[in-house]
Amino acid sequence: AKDKGKSSFQRFSPEMNQDSHERLQIETRLRRALELEELELYYQPIVQASTGKIIGAEALIRWNNPTLGIISPDKFIPLAEETGLIVPIGDWVLNTACKDIKHWQQTTGMNLTIAVNVSPRQFRDGGFIETVNQVLSETQLDPQFLELEITERLILDKSIETSGIFKHLDEKGIKLSIDDFGTGYSALGYLKSYPFDTLKIDKSFVQDVIESSEDAALVTAIITMAHSLGLKVIAEGVEEAPQLGFLNQHNCDYAQGYFFSRPVPAEDFNNWLTKNIQ
Ligand code: C2E
Ligand code: CA
Ligand code: CA
Ligand code: CA
Repeated sequence: AKDKGKSSFQRFSPEMNQDSHERLQIETRLRRALELEELELYYQPIVQASTGKIIGAEALIRWNNPTLGIISPDKFIPLAEETGLIVPIGDWVLNTACKDIKHWQQTTGMNLTIAVNVSPRQFRDGGFIETVNQVLSETQLDPQFLELEITERLILDKSIETSGIFKHLDEKGIKLSIDDFGTGYSALGYLKSYPFDTLKIDKSFVQDVIESSEDAALVTAIITMAHSLGLKVIAEGVEEAPQLGFLNQHNCDYAQGYFFSRPVPAEDFNNWLTKNIQ
Protein backbone atom coordinates (compact mmCIF):
# COMPACT_ATOMS: atom_id res chain seq x y z
CA ALA A 1 0.00 0.00 0.00
CA LYS A 2 1.61 3.19 -1.23
CA ASP A 3 1.07 6.72 -0.09
CA LYS A 4 -0.65 5.78 3.11
CA GLY A 5 0.75 8.46 5.33
CA LYS A 6 -0.86 11.40 3.58
CA SER A 7 -4.13 11.44 5.44
CA SER A 8 -6.12 9.03 7.50
CA PHE A 9 -8.69 8.80 4.72
CA GLN A 10 -8.20 5.83 2.42
CA ARG A 11 -10.22 4.70 -0.51
CA PHE A 12 -11.82 1.39 0.12
CA SER A 13 -10.30 -1.75 -1.27
CA PRO A 14 -11.08 -5.16 0.22
CA GLU A 15 -7.41 -6.00 0.64
CA MET A 16 -6.53 -2.71 2.27
CA ASN A 17 -9.51 -2.99 4.54
CA GLN A 18 -8.44 -6.42 5.72
CA ASP A 19 -4.91 -5.14 6.32
CA SER A 20 -5.82 -2.05 8.26
CA HIS A 21 -8.52 -3.90 10.12
CA GLU A 22 -5.99 -6.43 11.32
CA ARG A 23 -3.50 -3.72 12.21
CA LEU A 24 -6.09 -1.78 14.11
CA GLN A 25 -7.04 -4.90 16.02
CA ILE A 26 -3.44 -5.55 16.99
CA GLU A 27 -2.97 -1.90 17.89
CA THR A 28 -6.02 -1.94 20.14
CA ARG A 29 -4.82 -5.11 21.81
CA LEU A 30 -1.31 -3.74 22.23
CA ARG A 31 -2.72 -0.59 23.77
CA ARG A 32 -4.46 -2.70 26.39
CA ALA A 33 -1.56 -5.10 26.85
CA LEU A 34 0.16 -2.69 29.23
CA GLU A 35 -2.86 -2.34 31.52
CA LEU A 36 -3.61 -6.06 31.36
CA GLU A 37 -0.03 -6.87 32.27
CA GLU A 38 0.43 -8.99 29.17
CA LEU A 39 3.90 -7.58 28.62
CA GLU A 40 6.80 -9.43 30.13
CA LEU A 41 10.55 -9.03 30.16
CA TYR A 42 12.81 -11.94 29.36
CA TYR A 43 16.45 -11.78 30.35
CA GLN A 44 19.47 -13.12 28.52
CA PRO A 45 22.81 -13.30 30.32
CA ILE A 46 25.84 -11.41 29.03
CA VAL A 47 29.09 -13.05 30.06
CA GLN A 48 32.78 -12.28 30.05
CA ALA A 49 34.05 -14.11 26.95
CA SER A 50 37.29 -15.42 28.47
CA THR A 51 35.80 -16.81 31.70
CA GLY A 52 32.07 -17.25 31.09
CA LYS A 53 31.48 -15.19 34.22
CA ILE A 54 28.15 -13.36 34.12
CA ILE A 55 28.37 -9.57 34.02
CA GLY A 56 24.71 -8.79 33.44
CA ALA A 57 21.76 -9.32 31.16
CA GLU A 58 19.85 -7.83 28.26
CA ALA A 59 16.15 -7.22 28.82
CA LEU A 60 14.03 -8.45 25.89
CA ILE A 61 10.32 -7.79 25.76
CA ARG A 62 7.63 -10.38 25.09
CA TRP A 63 3.92 -9.92 24.61
CA ASN A 64 1.88 -12.71 26.05
CA ASN A 65 -1.65 -12.45 24.72
CA PRO A 66 -4.26 -15.04 25.78
CA THR A 67 -5.61 -15.42 22.24
CA LEU A 68 -2.54 -14.66 20.12
CA GLY A 69 0.01 -16.46 22.31
CA ILE A 70 3.58 -15.21 22.87
CA ILE A 71 4.37 -12.56 20.28
CA SER A 72 7.99 -11.72 19.56
CA PRO A 73 9.13 -8.09 19.59
CA ASP A 74 9.98 -8.16 15.87
CA LYS A 75 6.22 -8.48 15.31
CA PHE A 76 4.98 -5.64 17.51
CA ILE A 77 7.85 -3.21 18.21
CA PRO A 78 7.62 -1.71 14.69
CA LEU A 79 3.88 -1.13 15.22
CA ALA A 80 4.54 0.29 18.68
CA GLU A 81 7.06 2.67 17.09
CA GLU A 82 4.66 3.83 14.39
CA THR A 83 1.82 4.45 16.80
CA GLY A 84 3.94 6.02 19.53
CA LEU A 85 2.95 3.26 21.95
CA ILE A 86 6.66 2.55 22.25
CA VAL A 87 6.94 5.51 24.61
CA PRO A 88 4.77 4.14 27.45
CA ILE A 89 6.00 0.60 26.66
CA GLY A 90 9.61 1.78 26.74
CA ASP A 91 9.03 3.51 30.08
CA TRP A 92 7.63 0.29 31.47
CA VAL A 93 10.59 -1.72 30.12
CA LEU A 94 13.12 0.65 31.65
CA ASN A 95 11.39 0.70 34.99
CA THR A 96 10.89 -3.06 35.20
CA ALA A 97 14.41 -3.91 34.03
CA CYS A 98 16.06 -1.51 36.49
CA LYS A 99 13.90 -2.75 39.35
CA ASP A 100 14.70 -6.40 38.57
CA ILE A 101 18.46 -5.90 38.21
CA LYS A 102 18.60 -3.89 41.43
CA HIS A 103 16.87 -6.77 43.16
CA TRP A 104 19.34 -9.32 41.71
CA GLN A 105 22.28 -7.13 42.67
CA GLN A 106 21.02 -7.24 46.23
CA THR A 107 20.31 -10.97 46.33
CA THR A 108 23.60 -12.02 44.69
CA GLY A 109 25.94 -9.26 45.85
CA MET A 110 27.20 -9.02 42.26
CA ASN A 111 27.66 -5.84 40.20
CA LEU A 112 25.28 -6.84 37.45
CA THR A 113 24.63 -4.58 34.48
CA ILE A 114 21.25 -4.34 32.75
CA ALA A 115 21.14 -3.63 29.02
CA VAL A 116 17.90 -2.04 27.80
CA ASN A 117 16.90 -1.50 24.17
CA VAL A 118 15.78 2.02 23.31
CA SER A 119 13.86 2.93 20.15
CA PRO A 120 14.54 6.15 18.21
CA ARG A 121 10.98 7.26 18.86
CA GLN A 122 11.64 7.36 22.62
CA PHE A 123 14.30 9.98 21.98
CA ARG A 124 12.23 11.93 19.50
CA ASP A 125 9.20 12.45 21.71
CA GLY A 126 11.17 14.18 24.45
CA GLY A 127 10.91 13.34 28.10
CA PHE A 128 13.38 10.50 27.83
CA ILE A 129 15.93 12.02 30.17
CA GLU A 130 13.24 12.73 32.75
CA THR A 131 12.06 9.12 32.54
CA VAL A 132 15.59 7.80 33.02
CA ASN A 133 16.19 10.12 35.98
CA GLN A 134 12.92 9.14 37.58
CA VAL A 135 13.52 5.41 37.13
CA LEU A 136 17.03 5.64 38.55
CA SER A 137 15.88 7.56 41.58
CA GLU A 138 12.90 5.26 42.17
CA THR A 139 14.88 2.06 41.84
CA GLN A 140 18.07 3.42 43.43
CA LEU A 141 20.08 1.72 40.68
CA ASP A 142 23.60 3.09 40.28
CA PRO A 143 23.65 4.61 36.73
CA GLN A 144 26.89 2.82 35.84
CA PHE A 145 24.93 -0.46 35.80
CA LEU A 146 22.45 0.76 33.23
CA GLU A 147 23.43 0.29 29.62
CA LEU A 148 21.20 1.72 26.91
CA GLU A 149 21.32 -0.10 23.58
CA ILE A 150 20.88 2.18 20.61
CA THR A 151 20.95 1.29 16.93
CA GLU A 152 22.87 3.04 14.18
CA ARG A 153 19.49 3.98 12.74
CA LEU A 154 19.00 6.49 15.57
CA ILE A 155 22.40 8.13 15.24
CA LEU A 156 22.00 8.64 11.54
CA ASP A 157 18.48 10.00 11.87
CA LYS A 158 19.14 13.69 11.53
CA SER A 159 15.63 14.63 12.60
CA ILE A 160 16.43 13.66 16.16
CA GLU A 161 18.76 15.82 18.22
CA THR A 162 20.69 12.98 19.81
CA SER A 163 24.06 14.40 20.73
CA GLY A 164 22.78 16.54 23.61
CA ILE A 165 20.84 13.61 25.03
CA PHE A 166 23.81 11.24 24.67
CA LYS A 167 26.07 13.78 26.36
CA HIS A 168 23.68 14.13 29.27
CA LEU A 169 23.30 10.36 29.73
CA ASP A 170 27.06 9.88 29.48
CA GLU A 171 27.74 12.55 32.07
CA LYS A 172 25.29 10.87 34.39
CA GLY A 173 27.44 7.73 34.17
CA ILE A 174 24.98 5.67 32.15
CA LYS A 175 26.59 3.35 29.60
CA LEU A 176 25.77 3.72 25.93
CA SER A 177 25.96 0.77 23.65
CA ILE A 178 25.68 0.56 19.91
CA ASP A 179 23.50 -2.37 18.87
CA ASP A 180 23.49 -4.44 15.66
CA PHE A 181 26.79 -2.92 14.66
CA GLY A 182 27.64 -3.38 11.01
CA THR A 183 24.12 -3.88 9.67
CA GLY A 184 22.75 -1.49 7.12
CA TYR A 185 24.99 1.52 7.43
CA SER A 186 28.57 2.09 6.50
CA ALA A 187 29.14 5.42 8.21
CA LEU A 188 31.74 5.16 10.93
CA GLY A 189 32.41 8.81 11.68
CA TYR A 190 29.84 8.92 14.47
CA LEU A 191 31.94 6.48 16.50
CA LYS A 192 34.42 9.20 17.35
CA SER A 193 31.92 11.96 18.10
CA TYR A 194 29.53 10.10 20.41
CA PRO A 195 30.32 8.88 23.93
CA PHE A 196 29.74 5.16 23.32
CA ASP A 197 31.12 2.62 25.77
CA THR A 198 30.23 -0.62 24.05
CA LEU A 199 29.76 -1.99 20.56
CA LYS A 200 27.64 -5.06 19.91
CA ILE A 201 28.65 -7.10 16.91
CA ASP A 202 25.51 -8.22 15.14
CA LYS A 203 24.75 -11.91 15.29
CA SER A 204 24.74 -12.19 11.50
CA PHE A 205 28.54 -11.80 11.59
CA VAL A 206 29.03 -14.13 14.54
CA GLN A 207 26.88 -16.91 13.11
CA ASP A 208 29.28 -17.81 10.28
CA VAL A 209 32.54 -16.71 11.85
CA ILE A 210 33.96 -20.26 11.65
CA GLU A 211 32.75 -21.15 8.13
CA SER A 212 33.27 -17.80 6.45
CA SER A 213 36.69 -16.22 6.21
CA GLU A 214 35.00 -12.94 5.23
CA ASP A 215 32.94 -12.86 8.41
CA ALA A 216 36.01 -13.83 10.41
CA ALA A 217 37.91 -10.92 8.88
CA LEU A 218 35.06 -8.52 9.61
CA VAL A 219 34.68 -9.63 13.21
CA THR A 220 38.43 -9.37 13.81
CA ALA A 221 38.53 -5.91 12.26
CA ILE A 222 35.51 -4.69 14.24
CA ILE A 223 37.05 -5.84 17.53
CA THR A 224 40.39 -4.19 16.74
CA MET A 225 38.72 -0.97 15.65
CA ALA A 226 36.44 -0.83 18.69
CA HIS A 227 39.34 -1.42 21.06
CA SER A 228 41.42 1.29 19.37
CA LEU A 229 38.54 3.68 20.02
CA GLY A 230 38.32 2.60 23.65
CA LEU A 231 35.08 0.65 23.27
CA LYS A 232 34.28 -2.72 24.81
CA VAL A 233 32.89 -5.37 22.48
CA ILE A 234 29.97 -7.74 22.97
CA ALA A 235 29.42 -10.48 20.41
CA GLU A 236 25.77 -11.47 20.13
CA GLY A 237 24.32 -14.69 18.78
CA VAL A 238 27.05 -16.99 20.10
CA GLU A 239 25.60 -20.47 19.71
CA GLU A 240 28.58 -22.81 19.57
CA ALA A 241 31.86 -23.38 21.39
CA PRO A 242 34.07 -22.79 18.31
CA GLN A 243 32.52 -19.34 17.84
CA LEU A 244 33.35 -18.48 21.43
CA GLY A 245 36.86 -19.84 20.89
CA PHE A 246 37.35 -17.59 17.89
CA LEU A 247 36.06 -14.56 19.78
CA ASN A 248 38.39 -15.23 22.68
CA GLN A 249 41.34 -15.66 20.38
CA HIS A 250 40.58 -12.18 19.07
CA ASN A 251 40.10 -10.61 22.49
CA CYS A 252 36.37 -10.02 22.33
CA ASP A 253 35.33 -8.79 25.78
CA TYR A 254 31.83 -10.16 26.24
CA ALA A 255 29.51 -12.70 24.68
CA GLN A 256 25.81 -13.38 24.58
CA GLY A 257 23.82 -16.12 22.89
CA TYR A 258 22.06 -19.47 23.06
CA PHE A 259 25.40 -21.14 23.86
CA PHE A 260 25.09 -19.64 27.35
CA SER A 261 21.35 -19.24 27.62
CA ARG A 262 18.30 -18.25 25.66
CA PRO A 263 16.39 -15.23 26.91
CA VAL A 264 14.29 -16.53 29.81
CA PRO A 265 11.55 -15.20 32.13
CA ALA A 266 12.70 -13.32 35.23
CA GLU A 267 12.09 -16.27 37.51
CA ASP A 268 14.20 -18.62 35.37
CA PHE A 269 16.92 -16.00 35.12
CA ASN A 270 16.89 -15.73 38.87
CA ASN A 271 17.43 -19.49 39.13
CA TRP A 272 20.16 -19.39 36.49
CA LEU A 273 21.85 -16.64 38.49
CA THR A 274 21.83 -18.55 41.76
CA LYS A 275 23.35 -21.55 40.01
CA ASN A 276 26.02 -19.43 38.32
CA ILE A 277 26.90 -17.25 41.27
CA GLN A 278 30.65 -16.67 41.61
P1 C2E B 1 18.28 -7.26 19.56
O1 C2E B 1 18.36 -6.10 20.46
O2 C2E B 1 19.36 -7.42 18.53
O3 C2E B 1 18.22 -8.54 20.50
C1 C2E B 1 18.89 -9.75 20.25
C2 C2E B 1 17.95 -10.76 19.63
O4 C2E B 1 18.71 -11.92 19.31
C3 C2E B 1 16.86 -11.22 20.58
O5 C2E B 1 15.69 -11.46 19.81
C4 C2E B 1 17.43 -12.54 21.11
O6 C2E B 1 16.43 -13.42 21.55
C5 C2E B 1 18.14 -13.06 19.91
N1 C2E B 1 19.24 -13.97 20.25
C6 C2E B 1 19.98 -14.00 21.38
N2 C2E B 1 20.93 -14.96 21.33
C7 C2E B 1 20.78 -15.56 20.12
C8 C2E B 1 21.48 -16.66 19.47
O7 C2E B 1 22.42 -17.25 20.00
N3 C2E B 1 21.04 -16.99 18.23
C9 C2E B 1 20.00 -16.35 17.62
N4 C2E B 1 19.64 -16.76 16.40
N5 C2E B 1 19.33 -15.32 18.20
C10 C2E B 1 19.71 -14.94 19.44
P2 C2E B 1 14.27 -11.01 20.32
O8 C2E B 1 14.19 -11.18 21.81
O9 C2E B 1 13.24 -11.67 19.47
O10 C2E B 1 14.27 -9.45 20.04
C11 C2E B 1 14.28 -8.96 18.72
C12 C2E B 1 14.51 -7.48 18.67
O11 C2E B 1 13.40 -6.77 19.23
C13 C2E B 1 15.70 -7.03 19.49
O12 C2E B 1 16.87 -7.28 18.78
C14 C2E B 1 15.38 -5.56 19.67
O13 C2E B 1 15.75 -4.84 18.54
C15 C2E B 1 13.88 -5.57 19.78
N6 C2E B 1 13.49 -5.48 21.20
C16 C2E B 1 13.42 -6.46 22.13
N7 C2E B 1 13.04 -5.98 23.33
C17 C2E B 1 12.89 -4.63 23.16
C18 C2E B 1 12.52 -3.56 24.04
O14 C2E B 1 12.28 -3.72 25.24
N8 C2E B 1 12.48 -2.31 23.47
C19 C2E B 1 12.77 -2.10 22.16
N9 C2E B 1 12.71 -0.85 21.70
N10 C2E B 1 13.13 -3.07 21.33
C20 C2E B 1 13.19 -4.33 21.82
CA1 CA C 1 19.77 -5.25 21.79
CA1 CA D 1 30.40 6.73 28.61
CA1 CA E 1 21.41 -6.77 18.40
